[in-house]
Amino acid sequence: MMGVFGEPGLVLTEGDGCYVTDADGRRYLDLLGGIAVNSLGHGHPALVAAVQEQAARLIHTSNLFTTPGQVALGERLLEIAGAPEGSRVFLCNTGSEANEAAFKLARRTGRPDVVVLEGGFHGRTMGAISLTSKEAYRAPFEPLVPGVRRVPYDDVEALRDAVDESVGAVLVEPIQGEAGVVVPSQGYLEAARRITRDAGALLILDEVQTGIARTGEWFGFQTLAPGLVPDAVTVAKGLGGGVPVGGLITFGPEVSGLLTAGQHGTTFGGNPLACAAALAVLDTIAGDGLLTHVVRRGEHIAARIDALGDARVTGTRGRGLLRAVLLRDAVAPQLVVAAREAGFVVNAPTANAVRLAPPLVISDAELDTFVDALPTLLDRAGEKETS
Ligand SMILES: *Cc1c(COP(=O)(O)O)cnc(C)c1O
Repeated sequence: MMGVFGEPGLVLTEGDGCYVTDADGRRYLDLLGGIAVNSLGHGHPALVAAVQEQAARLIHTSNLFTTPGQVALGERLLEIAGAPEGSRVFLCNTGSEANEAAFKLARRTGRPDVVVLEGGFHGRTMGAISLTSKEAYRAPFEPLVPGVRRVPYDDVEALRDAVDESVGAVLVEPIQGEAGVVVPSQGYLEAARRITRDAGALLILDEVQTGIARTGEWFGFQTLAPGLVPDAVTVAKGLGGGVPVGGLITFGPEVSGLLTAGQHGTTFGGNPLACAAALAVLDTIAGDGLLTHVVRRGEHIAARIDALGDARVTGTRGRGLLRAVLLRDAVAPQLVVAAREAGFVVNAPTANAVRLAPPLVISDAELDTFVDALPTLLDRAGEKETS
């Protein structure tokens, strides 16, 4: 394997519910869910059955044809997004690919520039890294796609100043995941909506990490800014429960008409297997009341971590089951290792933040095992730092 991912932490062979098992037979509580992907955990019967049945029936057709599952998934996405009449969906395979489609949509406004926020992460393909904030991801690959303007996060004035008549779109993560689960101030998304509308630019929300019930509503914007209507939303990660599937949702007929026949495409996007998986995920979230479940579990773990009263934890951030545990000291990477040794999978998006994005089906009792272990994990992380 190419070295781009660094040294792998584990060799995993099996998964069951919220647990994964490694090649030595050790079990780990999966508090990362494949980075907000395994929405239903591992081996969920509804997802397994949907994939098995669809695999036996029809796996792939090409986009010269459509399938009932593809149409059904498109309709379901529009419904949960609260999209108006005339809205459309483009199905693809990954978050980066969804954002590439959004980038092309923005260019079709006839205005060349896109405004993005500092700290934002939008993927690793050439277009998506051009939109991404982190210098270390971009610098080795210059020259990148031109026309990207960066403004400070959560700064309404800076955004207003940046959005002029050459800006086709503003691209925003409702909660910045890779930056360490950073939530904007109340009213920021609404301000972004007003600014873009006044300037005639699109408001595109990157919901690749926050979408599909992760924050306790179907989409992060519905949690943070109820009633807001964006121009487009990108999704991926949690949608297929582990089967690669992503999408661009465009709101209303005008935006939905920007990309026309022949202007975009994908071979695998929206194939029947991926659509069956995504429909099983959406049906299970709705049918099992997982939106409420996610809100309650998220509040539970945040309250339990606060109640520890450990001075080495300065707080938590996030909504639903996308949370960061904030550390006083820059020992998040060491804590990830200590957690793994103790049987927990978490990750460290920054040196001071540990991210939790567990399966949406996780229980309070499972979450509690991590909170109970946290003081000891912090001891061990401290020892690793000094040794
Ligand atoms: C993960 C992520 C992406 C990239 O998704 P890939 O499937 O890895 O291409 C884009 N945007 C956000 C907000 C993400 O969290």
